[in-house]
Amino acid sequence: MTCLPDRPPGAPALGLVIDLDTCVGCQACATSCKQWNASGHSGPLPDLHPYSAGAEGVWFNRVHSFEAGEGAAGRTVHFPRSCLHCETPDCVTVCPTGASYKRAEDGIVLVNHDACIGCGLCAWACPYGAREMDEVAGVMKKCTLCVDRIYNETIPEALRQPACVLACPTKARHFGDLADPQSAVSQLVADRGGQALMPDLGYRPVNRYLPPRQRQAESQPIEDQPTPLDIKNPLLRWMGRVLTR
Ligand code: SF4
Ligand code: SF4
Ligand code: SF4
Repeated sequence: MTCLPDRPPGAPALGLVIDLDTCVGCQACATSCKQWNASGHSGPLPDLHPYSAGAEGVWFNRVHSFEAGEGAAGRTVHFPRSCLHCETPDCVTVCPTGASYKRAEDGIVLVNHDACIGCGLCAWACPYGAREMDEVAGVMKKCTLCVDRIYNETIPEALRQPACVLACPTKARHFGDLADPQSAVSQLVADRGGQALMPDLGYRPVNRYLPPRQRQAESQPIEDQPTPLDIKNPLLRWMGRVLTR
């Protein structure tokens, strides 16, 4: 068992805000993530059988595309999935060695590969499917929020952002301190009704998703429409199936 840290009052909660309205499913975030992390803090990230049946590999960010709704009201929704850097995640507390941990100073959830025994308990404990077993190294890996970029004083300040955020061509991804109500990301969440993923589970995810906007052609009064992340909505039903695989 590993303890969660005492987070000092006012400590940042770094995370991502992902706009499901403007994400076009291009996969640039996934590939830029893989490229940065393959040689960085968590690398190498192996690919297994890349040119044959059963191709697999370690990806910290995966983008799923699906159809939500039917007929004229239907639309394709793209859903990027990575660690949500939860405030009270069982992926940390189940770890028998202390390898899985949450940083007190900024809330980033990381894995100490030197202490990881590859037991896989943290992956079972993560309801979001955000952990990736490196079968070659025999250790668990995951999104680090590019911890080796965001504090890296050898690169220009404007580039001290997660690789996925920098790569996104539609600016659908945003990075910042979600504990600060005045931060740009918190303002964005407030303006757009950003939502946590499956908050009822009690993990208190930091990342937020901005729901797809309603189309003007939809004639139903907006107050009568289910919110895009409503549990009754096909979007969240689909997410639930993916994340609880
Ligand atoms: S998304 Fe999963 S891996 Fe990331 S902190 Fe939450 S429970 Fe842990
Ligand atoms: S796989 Fe590694 S990080 Fe995950 S619970 Fe086991 S020892 Fe901890
Ligand atoms: S790079 Fe941006 S637009 Fe492309 S899949 Fe990722 S979040 Fe969506």
